[in-house]
Amino acid sequence: MTQPDKNMVIPRIHINWTRYSRIAIRRCYCSNCESRTFFLGFFQDWYGRDEICLRCGDRWQDGEFCERPFLRGWRKKSIEGAKREYRRLRKALA
Ligand SMILES: [Zn+2]
Repeated sequence: MTQPDKNMVIPRIHINWTRYSRIAIRRCYCSNCESRTFFLGFFQDWYGRDEICLRCGDRWQDGEFCERPFLRGWRKKSIEGAKREYRRLRKALA
C-alpha cells in the first residue's frame, strides 16, 4: 500500500445555490393576528411554500401552521430573519 504524497493538494469543492427559487409579498388574513397583514413567502422546489406573518412572526409551511420555538423574543427574531432573507434573495434572484 502506498502512502499519500505529503505535497498532494486536495481540492475543496464548495457549491453555492439559492435555497429558494421564488419570493413574494402578499397581504392576507392571519388567523393569529385576526387581521389582514403582510406575509413574506418563500418557495422552494420539492419543499413548497414558507410564509411568515410580518406582524406576529408565525410561520406556515404549505398551509400548515409551524411549531413555535421555545425561545425568548422568537417573534422579533422570526420577523427580522424573514426580512433579512427576503432582502438577500431579492438581490440573488434579480
Ligand atoms: Zn400574524
